[in-house]
Amino acid sequence: MTYQALDSESVIDYLKDRSALEEVIPNRDDLVAKEVGDGNLNLVFIIESQGDPDQAVVLKQALPYLRVAGDSWPLTRERMRFETQALLKHNELAPGLVPLVYVSDEDMSLVVMEYLGNHRIMRQPLVERRKFPHFVDHISTFMARSLFFTSDLYLTGVEKKEFQAKFINPHMCKIQEDFVFTNPYMESAENQWNPEIDAEVQAVRANGELKLALAEMKESYMTHGQALIHSDLHTGSVMVNETDTRVIDPEFAFFGPMGFDVGAILENLVLNYLSHYAHTPDPDERAEYQAYLLEMVRDVWNEFARKFDAVWAENNCGELMPTKYWNFPAGEEIFAEFRRRYIQKILHDAAGHGGCKMLRRMMGIVNIWDITSIEDLQKRAVCERLAIKIGSRWVLERGKISSVDDLIRIVAEETKAA
Ligand code: ADP
Ligand code: MG
Repeated sequence: MTYQALDSESVIDYLKDRSALEEVIPNRDDLVAKEVGDGNLNLVFIIESQGDPDQAVVLKQALPYLRVAGDSWPLTRERMRFETQALLKHNELAPGLVPLVYVSDEDMSLVVMEYLGNHRIMRQPLVERRKFPHFVDHISTFMARSLFFTSDLYLTGVEKKEFQAKFINPHMCKIQEDFVFTNPYMESAENQWNPEIDAEVQAVRANGELKLALAEMKESYMTHGQALIHSDLHTGSVMVNETDTRVIDPEFAFFGPMGFDVGAILENLVLNYLSHYAHTPDPDERAEYQAYLLEMVRDVWNEFARKFDAVWAENNCGELMPTKYWNFPAGEEIFAEFRRRYIQKILHDAAGHGGCKMLRRMMGIVNIWDITSIEDLQKRAVCERLAIKIGSRWVLERGKISSVDDLIRIVAEETKAA
């Protein structure tokens, strides 16, 4: 089939012909579709059977341009191939933590997947101070397994490079290179920020030490092809309910630094923490929920580190380094030390990349709803100034971070007076 962008009618004709959907929607004669993409990039349709709304799927299709900017900004549809490949890999490595894939169609640049009708994008319920008792366990498993099993720690050098070759994702990488690491910190037409924090934004752009560190983080992103990373793992890419967690939207996936994914989760939790200075005026309610969020930051990292270490110790069959290499009298301890240092480096990268991402949300093209939903610009500025201070310190002090408690301490120190 040659590519055509679907609409809420043609999408129904398309699905009628898919025999692969036989089990999910056996009756495809009375389908209704609605387009729900609140995203910046693609079309997302929910299609359900009128007779039985439990029979439903989601179809996501890439457009040949960036949706948010209209057709003035061409963007290759190939991004759907990366998203589909990553979803399939994640289903294999972290089953139950991503949507099932029913149909993938490269010509049409689309994927048909499980409809997560009982889930919500995580940002909003976090602003409502909801709690997710399984999130830490789920997201730490997702990260430990998706990162470990696509790295040189598990794959042979040949396997890893052949797999990596399928994930050279130049155009999506370019978006992150520009909009996470470069443009927010210099003059660039698309940047947007709260006028109340203009002085702080200008100070970041003139801070030599910080700009040096940001440049180093960009170099890490561009060259440190450690594992298949999701590369856009913010709380807008996580759908949750009380019992279940799913990671969606891996169209930026490529081989990059593991700390970029881990840092994204930690940083988004901290930004949500800060947003409660405006969203939750009652000081007791606020303190209680903020403590919950910091606990989550601590637990996500600690559980990730523990699971990553365990899965490595049990599955050390990758190119780096074979078990036999550690086969000498003190070998077991030295291998454990190698793992400890490796995981420590992931923490440093998580701090650096998380810090960058915190800063770019304050002064780049894409801000986040947790904070932009604060209507009073002065109240919003209170959160944003704190984010700039914390983000800057995470980046600058990344090399000295010895445990996640150091990251939390920085948050506590900067918010003490708030
Ligand atoms: P984009 O890449 O364009 O940002 P997303 O993959 O983030 O698109 O999807 C946009 C929105 O569509 C999500 O925020 C979510 O509300 C909804 N969505 C995406 N996938 C699913 C799904 N499998 N089930 C239910 N809703 C989904
Ligand atoms: Mg997306």
